Amino acid sequence: MGANKSKKSENSIPYNSYKIATLGSHSAIQILYGAKQEGFSTIAICEKGREKPYKSFEVADEIMMVNSFRDTIKLQDKLLRENAILIPHGTFFEAFKLEELEKIKVNYFGNKSILKWEADRMKQREWLKRAGLILPKIYKKPEDIDGPVIVKFYGALGGKGFFLARTAEEFHRKIKARKTKGEIRAYIIQEYIIGAPIYIHYFYSPLTNELEVMSFDKRYESNVDSIGRIAAKDQLDLGLETSYNITGNVPIVVRESLLPEIFRMGEAVVKASRTLNGDNKGLYGPFSLETVVTPDLKFYVFEISARIVAGTNLYMEGSPYTMPRYNEPMSTGRRIAREIKNAITRNRLREILN
Ligand code: AMP
Repeated sequence: MGANKSKKSENSIPYNSYKIATLGSHSAIQILYGAKQEGFSTIAICEKGREKPYKSFEVADEIMMVNSFRDTIKLQDKLLRENAILIPHGTFFEAFKLEELEKIKVNYFGNKSILKWEADRMKQREWLKRAGLILPKIYKKPEDIDGPVIVKFYGALGGKGFFLARTAEEFHRKIKARKTKGEIRAYIIQEYIIGAPIYIHYFYSPLTNELEVMSFDKRYESNVDSIGRIAAKDQLDLGLETSYNITGNVPIVVRESLLPEIFRMGEAVVKASRTLNGDNKGLYGPFSLETVVTPDLKFYVFEISARIVAGTNLYMEGSPYTMPRYNEPMSTGRRIAREIKNAITRNRLREILN
């Protein structure tokens, strides 16, 4: 009865009476530009002092100013009146706790029940293992370290503060230095995989039941991506410590023979996601597998992002993978708007919103 009612109301209004809204950060330029390409009006929610790009690039039809992104909660009634659909990206997960996000009443693109599986690194592992992917080993305690490890702190802070170690002694020394600086949060100790980092950008459509490979990137991180410019001797003399603070993204095309495996992995992740909550409603929309490919061409997956990732910002005009499929510029941001449009016109919007 309820479902019928909502179907009726969806049908009676044109698709572009919905507005696409997001927080002014991360991948908002791409998301809003893509929404406009698909004929939607757009709203950028901006923190004071951070609105300039959204004005200058003319991607927002309306800018709603807040003192802090957290104040978006106070804008809810306004956003509901505007018929806004929120598109989540990394900044949402920095600004809000999971429980807060779950309670937001405004239309939200994506399956909120998947978020808890992404937010907890151990739950992520469970998910990726169910998908049969190869994962780096996790060390339960520092004394077990028997090779290179990367120590990662919890929270999507863009690799800030991660460090490498090879022995328990080195681990304790480095963690102690961080404790002294008051920088310690929960962490995991993960096997460090030597290989080529490749971030895979996918889109899964529940309307067509099809997984699309959108594009690839690698990150441009400070200081790890500039250490190679300094001679090894100077690196040692300077006592350099590697850090992984993200500053940007670099495009990649992959060796074509890797593509079948890339499709297989994405499909396996979507399939496994349906078993997580026991409701058969799995992951949909954009997501990313963060991988390191070893010299024997095995993909080690060290993380999943169940949402748009910033590496897709490279492809506002499409990628070498979206071009043959769409024959027009298709960014991940635009693909999201296209999905919403298709869902509205096929009377299936409720299936893709939370
Ligand atoms: P993350 O914030 O988890 O995406 O990781 C930050 C950086 O560490 C990226 O450059 C990754 O390529 C690198 N990285 C993360 N985990 C591993 C791993 N297990 N082995 C090798 N490199 C990793």
